[in-house]
Amino acid sequence: MAPLQTTTIGSLYRFDPELLRSIDEAIKFQREHRIDILSDGEQRTDMISYFAESFDGLGVEGGIPVVSGRIALMNGPDEFSKVKDLKYIMSKYPDLRLKVAITGPTTLGMTCGSRKIRSHYKNLLDFRLYEDIADALAPIAGALIHSGALVQLDEPFLSQGYKDLEARVKLLDRIAEGLPRDKVSTHVCGYVGGHGVVDHLLRLENVSTLSFAFAGRVEMPNIAHIFRKSFEDNDKKLGAGCISVTPLAEAEVNTPEKVASKLSEISSKVGRENIAYAHPDCGMRATAKSLVPIILRNMRAGVDQFG
Ligand SMILES: [Zn+2]
Repeated sequence: MAPLQTTTIGSLYRFDPELLRSIDEAIKFQREHRIDILSDGEQRTDMISYFAESFDGLGVEGGIPVVSGRIALMNGPDEFSKVKDLKYIMSKYPDLRLKVAITGPTTLGMTCGSRKIRSHYKNLLDFRLYEDIADALAPIAGALIHSGALVQLDEPFLSQGYKDLEARVKLLDRIAEGLPRDKVSTHVCGYVGGHGVVDHLLRLENVSTLSFAFAGRVEMPNIAHIFRKSFEDNDKKLGAGCISVTPLAEAEVNTPEKVASKLSEISSKVGRENIAYAHPDCGMRATAKSLVPIILRNMRAGVDQFG
């Protein structure tokens, strides 16, 4: 069988004050650590603010994201910052395999709407808010895929469970409708064992890969909720979070041996051929900077051991 591929969830620390130089450094850093499917490293800013620049109805007031009106994509998707960053990377490194993360409708809407909703939507439970965000994200996902990247829809908030969880999960299908499903994944970190989260995600039609975390203390029990049969019955692959992103000291970073045994454990539950790639549990923007290279080095060594 082909060696297991590696990727990251997306965010890394900022490498340089100048944006393009920083993106270059993020790419160089991932290549040095032999990551197979690379990301832009989320060098531009946090996961939320760049949407405010490109979406009508989303604003930032005093550094805090707010909903200020009906949400819609302001210009064409090619004007969206992440599409521009992808095209920059592709023009410089045409042979790289790239995956771009975009924040999903529930996480984006909850993050912006929980601070302030000034008009158009009744409140945070108004489902039109999330539908409008999904419709604004769809052309962006399309542009990213047509430019040659994989797309990862980040929906960490879904792990919390909602009364209308099924409808919220279906918004991911709405974003990916008409796109090649093998190019679309979704990442839900945290504990996914409650609220039927995994079962709802398994029923997605237009998303091929579900990415979960298994290495952190909170995320370890996720292993009990993945099954070979349910992945195969639903034509799904697994993105396997195999190393924790929350160590506080070098001694706490999972060793290569631990990564390899974690992957063996995951593999025994879901089947080696159903693992799309290995990755750290989550993005690493909040991870201690000095530990990020060690995490990637140990992940690579652990994946090599696993084979
Ligand atoms: Zn995450």
